[in-house]
Amino acid sequence: RREGAGLSPAIWEKVKEHPCYSEQAHHHFARMHVAVAPGCNIQCNYCNRKFDCANESRPGVVSERLTPEQAVEKVRAVAARLPQLSVVGIAGPGDSLHNAPRTLKTLELLRAEVPDLTLCLSTNGLALPDHVDALKALDVHHVTITLNALDPEIGAEIYPWIAHDHRRWRGVEAARILLERQMEGLERAVAAGILVKINSVMIPGINDGHLEEVNRVVREKGAFLHNVMPLISDPAHGTHFGLTGQRGPTPVEVQTLRDSLGNDARLMRHCRQCRADAVGMLGEDGCGDGGGADATSPT
Ligand code: SF4
Ligand code: SF4
Repeated sequence: RREGAGLSPAIWEKVKEHPCYSEQAHHHFARMHVAVAPGCNIQCNYCNRKFDCANESRPGVVSERLTPEQAVEKVRAVAARLPQLSVVGIAGPGDSLHNAPRTLKTLELLRAEVPDLTLCLSTNGLALPDHVDALKALDVHHVTITLNALDPEIGAEIYPWIAHDHRRWRGVEAARILLERQMEGLERAVAAGILVKINSVMIPGINDGHLEEVNRVVREKGAFLHNVMPLISDPAHGTHFGLTGQRGPTPVEVQTLRDSLGNDARLMRHCRQCRADAVGMLGEDGCGDGGGADATSPT
């Protein structure tokens, strides 16, 4: 399968040197996540707050929490010893945009002090519509939104609550608001010329039969890649799904779904689901087994 198949030449030109999007580039360029965003504005049933945001990060070790200034210092130090460093992303450990002041300050400092690096972030999307203009002004290259369902009834099985507009919402209403905000964020980011990738966590019996529809709609709305990731549900991680016995998909089930989406589905096939503080070449920092998420990468 040709690298960049399904992407327009203009988009391929933009991402071909990004280690996460080009299998070729990931042998030559490095990426780094800085963990500056501790809190979250939603609850996912696959989340364990002791670990990094499961939407883009692997479980196992709590990220070091950095201030924006510490994050920039760390990026400078890594760039000095790792000339292949080309991308810096903010992936949590909570939601990058729930922590917008810290995240935007970090991006602003990075843009000023290490202007050659490509910047990206991941988010659950709830706060995205409020920050698209700021992200565009900081020349953020791409944004990842984790979007697991288009149907609020399905969403309600994944998200027990969200915090929005100074109150907590639950059930279908919460899932409906989250979906509306994710769609608005997707549309506004695409309109602003920011590349948008969608992550979906495949949860057997809950959203697995629905992800084909998610793929179709997010492509129609202009997402340039869709990354389907397997739920990792382990009681030891203490997630709601882990405790209720919700299983993750088998590798065959994940492959079958990816195959059913076809060659034109703009699927991302080598995301390593890195931790929120991952540093280095993909696959060389302990995040390279291509496994699933804690039940779920920023960039
Ligand atoms: Fe928030 Fe990420 Fe946890 Fe979901 S998985 S509750 S978005 S920190
Ligand atoms: Fe790239 Fe996936 Fe790792 Fe993010 S989590 S840096 S998209 S490989």
